[in-house]
Amino acid sequence: MNADLLDRRDAVIMATYGRPSIALTRGSGAHVWDADGREYVDLIAGVAVSVLGHCHPAVRAAVVAQLDTLGHTSNLYVNTPQLLLAERLIELLGVDGRAFFCNSGAEANETAIKISRRTGRSEIIAAEGAFHGRTMGALSITGQPGKRAPFEPLLPGVRFVPHGDADALAAAVSERTAAVFLEPTLGEAGVIPSPPGYLAAARAACDAHGALLVFDEVQSGIGRTGAWFAHQTEGVVPDVITLAKGLGGGLPIGVCIGIGAAGHLLRPGDHGSTFGGGPVVCSAALAVLDTIVAEGLLEHAAVLGGALRDGIVAADAAGVTGVRGVGLWLAIELDAPFAPEVETAAREAGFLVNAVAANAVRLAPPLVLTPADVDAFVAALPGIADRARETHAQGDRTAATGPKKSDEGSKVSA
Ligand SMILES: *Cc1c(COP(=O)(O)O)cnc(C)c1O
Repeated sequence: MNADLLDRRDAVIMATYGRPSIALTRGSGAHVWDADGREYVDLIAGVAVSVLGHCHPAVRAAVVAQLDTLGHTSNLYVNTPQLLLAERLIELLGVDGRAFFCNSGAEANETAIKISRRTGRSEIIAAEGAFHGRTMGALSITGQPGKRAPFEPLLPGVRFVPHGDADALAAAVSERTAAVFLEPTLGEAGVIPSPPGYLAAARAACDAHGALLVFDEVQSGIGRTGAWFAHQTEGVVPDVITLAKGLGGGLPIGVCIGIGAAGHLLRPGDHGSTFGGGPVVCSAALAVLDTIVAEGLLEHAAVLGGALRDGIVAADAAGVTGVRGVGLWLAIELDAPFAPEVETAAREAGFLVNAVAANAVRLAPPLVLTPADVDAFVAALPGIADRARETHAQGDRTAATGPKKSDEGSKVSA
């Protein structure tokens, strides 16, 4: 049962995450089931990870076949799946490049930070609001002061500029700048796209001063936007790209790709990972890439994402002011900070969504989502929004009547 599992969790799992409301026990396609047997349409995909949905036979077959052949090699030896995956990713990027494989998005960005140090410069410029991961280096370049403050001192020489302000970025980049790190669309900050021309302006600023341009596509890459990589829609080529979330179809993998000369900056002995690029996760990733092609999931993400977007607007739910994002990566914009209540009401109605900000609800479903799933969500949205607004208003009234009640039901987001 959910309740029992949640209580036991609190005793043995560190309280770093918000307290979950349910335990998930099984999945199929874009649907999951909880420990009480309730079914949900999964519109968050384990934070933009499970691009092929749950238990896709291609991932399963690839993993099982590889485990039956050779499960682990370390990087003391060549393993063919890693080699093939590097070749495939570089081909999809359409560049000359070299890959370093690791196990997560944060580690991919750590690799990019070390690459930037090998320019001989140490200053990094990043965007306010951006998220690059929780390890100390990735945290140092994460533009969310609340996450950084408890762990200072962090890496020195990191400067933050407002995301989307091309002039501020151009003014900040100099001969001291090793690298500029950008998410093409801010993910954790609430699916906030860059203004048109921003990535090109960043490219120009980096070129003018010999700084590396790093695109963190950990969340935006691998089909989420309807393109293999988000930056391809803008036609701006970075020096370094980092990937993770969608790449492994649920298995932990990260990769940092250095394009052109940036692929040659790290030297023998400069970096390593025991598990990085292991044959099992690389086989899973190859299956993900093959399946995206075989099932036409890029076009599907673009078309169905458009339908989802249009459907949300047409649903005209109370308190919903708009929707932003592209492909199957959207944020529903709210007129008040009741996203946590929307998350709860959606779950009670059978949909998993994510209150990414107080007034924005993130949708990042599996790319195998069906039109029927979209129709079901769009039909349910007005009721979900009404319910959420009601709960939110009750919370406000409770707060206004003073401190008698505990603030257990408060709307503090995880
Ligand atoms: C999730 C995320 C990361 C961190 O990835 P982990 O695998 O959690 O370390 C880094 N950058 C972006 C843009 C992300 O969305």
